[in-house]
Amino acid sequence: MMDSLKNIQNKDNLALVLHQKDVLKLEQWPLPQQLAPNECLLQAHSCGICGTDVTLWKKGFVADFVVKKPFVLGHEPSAVVIGVGSEVTNLKVGDRVAVEPALPCLKCQFCRSGRYNLCPVSNLHSHGLPPADGCLRRYYTHRSDFCYKLPENVSCEEGALVEALAVVVHACRRVRVGIGQNVLVCGAGPVGIMCFLVAKAFGASKVYLTDINESRLKMAKQLGADGVFVINPKTFNDKEMAKTIRSAIGANSLGVDIAIECTGVESSVCLAIHVTKSGGKVGIVGLGADCKIPLSSAAMREVDLIGVCRIKDDYELAIQLITSGKLNVKPLITHTFNIKDSVKAFDLLKSGTEGVVKVLIQH
Ligand SMILES: [Zn+2]
Ligand SMILES: [Zn+2]
Repeated sequence: MMDSLKNIQNKDNLALVLHQKDVLKLEQWPLPQQLAPNECLLQAHSCGICGTDVTLWKKGFVADFVVKKPFVLGHEPSAVVIGVGSEVTNLKVGDRVAVEPALPCLKCQFCRSGRYNLCPVSNLHSHGLPPADGCLRRYYTHRSDFCYKLPENVSCEEGALVEALAVVVHACRRVRVGIGQNVLVCGAGPVGIMCFLVAKAFGASKVYLTDINESRLKMAKQLGADGVFVINPKTFNDKEMAKTIRSAIGANSLGVDIAIECTGVESSVCLAIHVTKSGGKVGIVGLGADCKIPLSSAAMREVDLIGVCRIKDDYELAIQLITSGKLNVKPLITHTFNIKDSVKAFDLLKSGTEGVVKVLIQH
């Protein structure tokens, strides 16, 4: 056994394990016993938790991922390299990294055509989604080409936001946000707020947000959003709201060039379509139940509905946006918990308490 592995064999490997729907436990997890030539041995630093984790906990599944056996949660990690396999050249011991959790095969047709996020193999190796163990444990291994070194001026806390930021970078690339465009982001949770920040960094001239939660919109406003719209679910009408937004953003406004839907809620998807101008694009980032949408309106107005799946080579740009100062994710980190208190962190995230944006768990 390599020295780096030997050194941790008597260590604590506290992990947050989801056994089944509603059953979340802190327990010791087996320590890594081997390190492949292309892998790094990692010591966890911080890990973001998000709606996906809460859904897994409360429902026992998310999309096609079903909890069938106990597995470790956590797919938004930063870590420190404490060992490297014999063929690793991109990293060394002591490097701090952001970890891209899903590992594609790099052999199938999707991988070969450059769309590795669609690789069917990566669904089985998406760490933090069942059945693959995630990063809410102290020690684990990961393929080195899916670990990205954090520059000096990027903290491990910021590093834990890189996964979510990369998803958003991918979304903005998919819908081709560019200079001078008007963008509406539906939903001002962490992903929505990051969408607004990335759209701005990509050159969008105006970015607007909607949400049902006023405190989230207040934060978006403080961070420089050009306009925010509070949704009242009781009185909400998608067409009326689209009209309100169109007139608020300009007297003769034809609508926004791009809407990025981050809630997965049916009425919000409908709003996104109605508020987008003819010839525009709607990016579908939020995932909810299947829903009924005004498809003929989209078709007749040539509004493109664009699916967004995870990450495709977006970590480098996500890190660059942070390190260059183009984008500041620090204000989004509102709460941090030690892994020992991670069940509390999940309770907090689920409660929908005002002022909670991004919650990190640290080791
Ligand atoms: Zn997440
Ligand atoms: Zn593949």
